[in-house]
Amino acid sequence: MGIVGFKHSEETKKKLSELAKGRPSPRKGCVLSDETKKKLSLAAMGRSSWIKGKNHSEETKLKLSLVRQKTLFTDPERLCTKCNKIKSREEFFVVKKLRTPSLSSWCKDCYRKLARDWHRKNKERQAKKFIEYKKANPEKFTVYYSEKRANRLKACVPWADKKKISLYYTIAKLYTEIYGEQYHVDHIVPLQGKNVCGLHVEYNLQILPAIENMKKGNRL
Ligand SMILES: [Zn+2]
Repeated sequence: MGIVGFKHSEETKKKLSELAKGRPSPRKGCVLSDETKKKLSLAAMGRSSWIKGKNHSEETKLKLSLVRQKTLFTDPERLCTKCNKIKSREEFFVVKKLRTPSLSSWCKDCYRKLARDWHRKNKERQAKKFIEYKKANPEKFTVYYSEKRANRLKACVPWADKKKISLYYTIAKLYTEIYGEQYHVDHIVPLQGKNVCGLHVEYNLQILPAIENMKKGNRL
C-alpha cells in the first residue's frame, strides 16, 4: 500500500507521473494463480462497493453512457443472457427507454419465444377480455368495422381525418342514447353507389336515424 499516512507533494506527483508515462504496468502479463484469485475474491467479499451510497456526477454519467453506447453499437456480436448464445448485433432489439439507446440483453428469438408462450398460456383469458372490451366500447368497433368495409371497397384515402370520422360515430351513439332511437353514420355519397362511389372521409358523413338510413340504401 505504499507509504501509509504520507502524501506526495503535487510536484513529486507530477514527476512520478512523467516517469510512469509509456512504462508498462508492473502487473502486465502476470497471470494470477487460482489460489490467489480465490484469496482476492475472499478478501473482496462483504466489502462494500466504492460507489455505494454515492452518486456519479452528471459528467461521469454522460461519459459512462457514451462508453456503453460506443461498445454496444460497435461490437459486431453480443451475448444473449437468456439462451447464452453469441449472436450478431442485428439479433437484438434497440431499447430507447434509457437516456441513451441501448441493446436488449435478450435476443429477438428469446423475446419472441416468451411472447408466444405467454400468448399460448393466456389465450382464453385474453379472448374473454377482448369480448368484455368490445361490449364496453361498441363505438370503437363501429369505427373499426366501417373503416374495414371502406377499405374493402377501396374508399379509404390517406388524407381522411380519422379523429373527425370517429367523432361522427361518437355523436351517433350519443344521439341514440338521448333520443332512444337508433342513429347511424351515413355516407352522403354511398360507397357502393350505382353511378358514383363516395369516399370514407369526414365530409362525406352525416348522422341519420337508422330508419331513414335504411330507406336511403345505396341511393344518392
Ligand atoms: Zn437468446
